[in-house]
Amino acid sequence: MRLSQMLFVTLRDDPADAEIPSHKLLLRAGYIRRIGSGIYAYLPFMWRVLQKVSQIVREEMNATGAQECLLPQLQPSDLWKESGRWDTYTKAEGIMFSLIDRREQQLGLGPTHEEVITAIARDMIRSYRQLPLHLYQLQTKFRDEIRPRFGLMRGREFIMKDGYSFHVDEESLKKTYQDMYQAYSNMLRRSGLAFRPVEADSGAIGGSGSTEFMVLAEAGEDEVLYTEDGKYAANVEKAVSLPADAETSPFTSYEKRETPGTDTIEKLSSFLKCSPTQIVKSVLYQTVYDTGLTVLVLVSIRGDQEVNEVKLQNELTRLAANYGAKAVIALNVPSAETQQTWAAKSLPLGYIAPDISDEYIAANKQVQAKFVRLVDKTAVDLKNFVTGANETGYHVVGANWNEQFQLPESVVDLRKARPGDRALHNPEQTLSSARGIEVGHIFQLGTKYSVAMGATYTNEQGEEKPLVMGCYGVGVSRLAQAAVEQSYDKDGIIWPVAIAPYHAIVTIPNINDAQQVQIAEKLYTELNQAGIETLLDDRDERAGVKFKDADLIGIPYRIVTGRAIANGKVEVVERATRQSQEIAIDEVITTLKQWITTAIEGKN
Ligand code: ATP
Ligand code: MG
Repeated sequence: MRLSQMLFVTLRDDPADAEIPSHKLLLRAGYIRRIGSGIYAYLPFMWRVLQKVSQIVREEMNATGAQECLLPQLQPSDLWKESGRWDTYTKAEGIMFSLIDRREQQLGLGPTHEEVITAIARDMIRSYRQLPLHLYQLQTKFRDEIRPRFGLMRGREFIMKDGYSFHVDEESLKKTYQDMYQAYSNMLRRSGLAFRPVEADSGAIGGSGSTEFMVLAEAGEDEVLYTEDGKYAANVEKAVSLPADAETSPFTSYEKRETPGTDTIEKLSSFLKCSPTQIVKSVLYQTVYDTGLTVLVLVSIRGDQEVNEVKLQNELTRLAANYGAKAVIALNVPSAETQQTWAAKSLPLGYIAPDISDEYIAANKQVQAKFVRLVDKTAVDLKNFVTGANETGYHVVGANWNEQFQLPESVVDLRKARPGDRALHNPEQTLSSARGIEVGHIFQLGTKYSVAMGATYTNEQGEEKPLVMGCYGVGVSRLAQAAVEQSYDKDGIIWPVAIAPYHAIVTIPNINDAQQVQIAEKLYTELNQAGIETLLDDRDERAGVKFKDADLIGIPYRIVTGRAIANGKVEVVERATRQSQEIAIDEVITTLKQWITTAIEGKN
């Protein structure tokens, strides 16, 4: 392609609304254009990158025996009502765009395709002989994200490869899951990314596991905890660890103490001269179920620990059936204002004990009369602890479970693991933290959707069984931007060769020099004929401008028909290393071919 004929506009300055390097660079280099919040146009260079990533994804998927298809983006609400996800995806913080058609039917714009694929499986899979089966698609997904940001990283319209597999049993599912683990690792390695597979939260479905593929980068929205021995890595949402040991309590007898102005753990521990590890703190949450019912939740946890809200939400989802509900649609720490909507009298915030009376709740049809009381293991283990006295300005010390306080029935792991904690598999290893961009997620779903939607098969014994399912997603557009986030310098993008929009760019320093033009034209034609995807910068611009643009757009090899042509040579510059060398004109093609093959196949 000739730059003179392209829609090629680069920006010198950083666009105001871009925060992270990859977003700035893709905008500046003319790869993408913002059309609205979380909505981007993929311009020709970007589209080539996306197609290259898609091709790698296809090759790796096809190699496992999965088959490509294309499912509808318009999805009837009925299917989502069958799975029980319509409300969670369209109400409150739900992320599905929904609409009503001319026949007054509700539809959703596909954020994901479990419902559609399960409906197909229900209709078409009859017998174990048809299994296992794995279908995938590459498609635009729609999600009304709460915080669209960072360009393609979190868009409201983005490209995903999603695949769904069907099995007779868990064992068969596990095999495909392993194949996907390998296929995903291959995709990312081939795309030139440094990544780490991590244990991930599977939501309340439980299932036997899920893995996220994290591209390591400071701008990542996820936190990964891992050990140096390489044996443990998990998303912080899911991570487990051993907390630091609690210090022995200095309080040996139970007593109520006046503790004015100690509504935080820090103030309390300095007032009482005790360690936060000797305090049981009570954290108040408010949750709303899909039935509209509000439930107040009191979590007791050791003073130095934090609540992992993902673990908490999973536990509350498990409890949903107790309230005739299926899902949690909101979970937060209630503000003073929202407390007023259900509190019968004002709460002694900062001084709450695990046994605070249910009478603080003004119950009605919409508000459950009793607190759900959960206790984390770190609090259960404490002896002679400090906690609130349910009265502003007072705490109790030297308290014990089953003496002054009844131990809540549910003991659950609700604590947030953090860097420095000891690892479970080997307490000599401690957890370190890294930032990651989640580019892929593979998931053992089990029978959640098949049971909800009645998708069954007949086994060898003639019995009808629910299909066992897995699902596997990779964000193609997010992956492409993540590659930039991992590979750039002050002058611009440095594309991994395998996904660069073009391999090479031939730059003519002076288009008024006939010899320069003639050699460049010839090389341009021959390189392309040899399968080396090459651009020609034939614009009427100063050489300096052309070099700057070539650096900015990040094409791996730049060929300059400058002074060296007098000696029958051209200058070839490698973008990543900036190494420059003069190569005889008739050796350029073979040399580049070899470099490109090595760069791409080295990753295969
Ligand atoms: P996140 O936690 O980042 O919101 P998710 O868990 O909702 O992602 P999945 O439903 O597992 O994502 O989707 C599979 C993949 O699709 C993700 O791993 C990610 O690469 C990509 N993806 C998800 N949401 C977006 C988005 N808003 N913009 C771009 N890519 C996305
Ligand atoms: Mg995910």
